Amino acid sequence: MSDTNEKFDYIIIGAGVAGLASAQYAARGGLKTLVIDVSIPGGQALTIPTLENYPGVYPALSGTQFCQNMRDQAEGFGAVIIQSEVQSIDKVGSDFKIVTRKDSYIGTCVLIATGAEHRKLGVPGEDKLEGRGVSYCATCDGPFFRNRKIFVIGGGDSACDEAMYLSTLTDDVTLVHRRDTLRAQKAVADRLLANPKVKVIFNAKVKEIKGEGRVQSIELEDTTDGSVTEHQCDAVFIFAGMNPVTQLVEMLPKDEGGYIKTDDDMKTLMPGLYAAGDIRSKSFRQVVTAVSDGAIAAHSAGEYVRNLKAKI
Ligand code: NAP
Repeated sequence: MSDTNEKFDYIIIGAGVAGLASAQYAARGGLKTLVIDVSIPGGQALTIPTLENYPGVYPALSGTQFCQNMRDQAEGFGAVIIQSEVQSIDKVGSDFKIVTRKDSYIGTCVLIATGAEHRKLGVPGEDKLEGRGVSYCATCDGPFFRNRKIFVIGGGDSACDEAMYLSTLTDDVTLVHRRDTLRAQKAVADRLLANPKVKVIFNAKVKEIKGEGRVQSIELEDTTDGSVTEHQCDAVFIFAGMNPVTQLVEMLPKDEGGYIKTDDDMKTLMPGLYAAGDIRSKSFRQVVTAVSDGAIAAHSAGEYVRNLKAKI
């Protein structure tokens, strides 16, 4: 590891839409801005087949195109985006030291925007058959199951949106939800329930995913009477919600779901450290709210850097 210690005004960890929006605002506002992500920029939004509810982006774009535009825009204003894995964030004096696998960097302030990752069901067969019919990303893996029998697990926006997308690939999609009403936003739920290619099984939980070398069937338990049924299928797409990725900031206070607490300005309890996007404690997780968080964090960071520079 080379210890470059290059100094930036603002270092953003996570290049999802919150991080990219913050980078664009910060760089445009004159902050020397670095974005670090272990993956290619875009995060979860890359998997959105059609981003149809982002205000002003009409006709809708694919998540991939939207993220590419955000990246180009941030870089266009001078933000530097690198791909590397951040290993630690430490406060050193009034600055932060960010250590990655290859280098280290100094930031006057830091935004943590590492988002959230897919929650597993934890049932037998899930791990063994991941990548062999068990998937957490319809855009990535759906095309492998064209005209096949697909089960979708979950009752939130993701499960409903992704079931809709999968129904463009096959007319045999079954969504399984553990309660008797969908959690998804009404418009999303109504559209799903009206789709003739999607059958919905309520009040059922997954007991086991079965198969040798590939998914062959799924076992469901009726939550009302405990009866168990087995259904032949080729793929199981799981959308059981998300867990926030907080390993780098375990020192910060979290809510009961494990999400980082901030104030309305995206400030955490540690001066100069901000949080934005799906990692943050809030009631509504959308691309538009992540982008908003990112813009607000950049504004707060700008004030912080200017105040600090004025004192020196
Ligand atoms: P979510 O809203 O937390 O929904 C997760 C779903 O999985 C719930 O229906 C939950 O059931 C179910 N679930 C959880 N654990 C389970 C288990 N062990 N077995 C079976 N089912 C289980 O997660 P999400 O759909 O991924 O959405 C995450 C956030 O992104 C939300 O804020 C959502 O609004 C947002 N989002 C928005 C859009 C959009 O605007 N189009 C699209 C995607 C995501 P219960 O309902 O019983 O808890």
